[in-house]
Amino acid sequence: MQSTARVVVITGAARGIGYGIAECFATKGDRLVIADLNLAAAQAAAAKLKEEKGVGDALGLACDVADRTSVQAMVEAVVAHFGRIDVLVNNAGICPFVDVMKMAPEMWEKTLAVNLTGAFHCTQLVAEKMIAQGDGGRVVFITSLAENVTGPAQVDYGASKAGMRMTMVGFATALGKHGITCNAVAPGMILTDMTRFHWEQPGPAEHIKARVPVGRIGTPTDIGHAAVFLASPEASYISGVTLRVDGGHQACCA
Ligand code: NAP
Repeated sequence: MQSTARVVVITGAARGIGYGIAECFATKGDRLVIADLNLAAAQAAAAKLKEEKGVGDALGLACDVADRTSVQAMVEAVVAHFGRIDVLVNNAGICPFVDVMKMAPEMWEKTLAVNLTGAFHCTQLVAEKMIAQGDGGRVVFITSLAENVTGPAQVDYGASKAGMRMTMVGFATALGKHGITCNAVAPGMILTDMTRFHWEQPGPAEHIKARVPVGRIGTPTDIGHAAVFLASPEASYISGVTLRVDGGHQACCA
């Protein structure tokens, strides 16, 4: 893996945690790929990273991680532009927040297709490129505390994130011999559009803040700093692990 100006692909990075992760990699001088459903949003995010964060080269690409053909096209476009891929961050995800007893089977399948199968497509197709490059790589999965604890309106989400964790562990066993590490960051409650409706109601926000020992809701860059560490040369002997970044929330719940 190159030690400078690495090529970092982040899925679902036009906004939210993915964009925060991109901002953190930007401080390391890396070249960035913002892969997101919406091409215009991905291109706008890439342009903003260049203008505001001084990123030397950032590329915005359309990609639906649930669609293998779309992922394949994104990976080929990255290699055509940059010639290589050093780091993949599997961040794209959805959480419909629908009670499991009212959930349509199609919604269940979509959550698993995006969160779980999407991470499989991206990791397998990017790892093929990393193996061919011959100098290792890093894969970081963004899971969730919901891989361990969930509720009635997050059964699909928790199942997808638990599956994602074991997908990460399995890829770690498969790719270690190629110098490719696989790890996960499990965020707690982070302020993004996905969870904003919680914080806009005073009751739930105060309840959750009270249960987070560090006393605040997390930010996208809290997750980004952890992803940058797991993708760093210093983390070369760390693989197959999950780093919880939750202000102590799960420890408090346990
Ligand atoms: P978000 O604000 O909803 O942003 C998600 C991004 O992913 C959006 O840009 C979205 O594009 C994109 N996306 C959705 N489906 C996609 C697909 N099929 N292919 C490619 N991109 C897709 O969510 P977030 O809060 O930043 O969450 C990011 C990740 O962190 C997710 O995996 C989530 O499960 C995880 N997480 C979040 C929290 C939290 O508290 N926020 C906690 C734990 C874990 P569009 O804008 O076009 O929809």
